[in-house]
Amino acid sequence: MTLQVLGLTKTYVGEALPVHALRGVDVAFPRGGFTAVMGPSGSGKSTFLHCAAGLERPDSGTVLVEGRDITRLSERELTQVRARAFGFVFQSFNLLPMLDAEENITIGQSLAGLTPDHAWRKELVRSLGLESRLRHRPAELSGGQQQRVAVARALVHRPSVLFADEPTGNLDSRAGAGVLGALRRAASEHGQTIVMVTHDPVAASRADRVLFLRDGGIEGELSDPVPETVLEWIRHLESV
Ligand code: ADP
Ligand code: MG
Repeated sequence: MTLQVLGLTKTYVGEALPVHALRGVDVAFPRGGFTAVMGPSGSGKSTFLHCAAGLERPDSGTVLVEGRDITRLSERELTQVRARAFGFVFQSFNLLPMLDAEENITIGQSLAGLTPDHAWRKELVRSLGLESRLRHRPAELSGGQQQRVAVARALVHRPSVLFADEPTGNLDSRAGAGVLGALRRAASEHGQTIVMVTHDPVAASRADRVLFLRDGGIEGELSDPVPETVLEWIRHLESV
């Protein structure tokens, strides 16, 4: 298993009543699997993604990355694991405006001191259709192109897991389809493990399976999703 989450709990304690954002989530992500995570607003999707990706610490439970529990690591070790083992794609593309596309793709890897694999980078750039855009800065690129640069940045160091939080949320459907196609190929052709939070049944249907969260727990899962079966699940979750 590339990533395995066991008994994950997280409670936010504030001035009001405590919020049980995760109530003991168990789930495994096999290598090369593309999983979508869905659920109503407030169901715990972001908290789950952040805890699984080492951006937030759970209250209890384990997160095994290639068999190693990352919840026990120091901040320093965790930073290293995030840089080496994970790639991130966010809803807002989060590219550095002063750098061109190629520099955006490679800067994280150089800062983390990782050895670049030039052949793989060229292959990524080609498969994402970015060859003629490498000298452009983000402001000179469309939203779809910017997000494909973000996908290249997230994959260039061959992470164990790519985490994506609403990667098509700011794109029109055509640009979104380009980004989803890139994620789909990363999983099918390169054995990349992908965990993607989305609200969009069409986006979710590109995954191999969909996990449905409700009230901080996994309510169910759907294999080989198509938009219609995803929609049925969403309606079910909203009705209970
Ligand atoms: P989703 O991404 O599915 O909308 P979240 O994981 O963001 O859900 O949130 C789950 C629950 O935890 C919600 O009730 C939310 O209000 C609460 N929550 C999330 N982050 C915090 C925080 N930093 N402090 C307090 N409550 C939070
Ligand atoms: Mg969220």
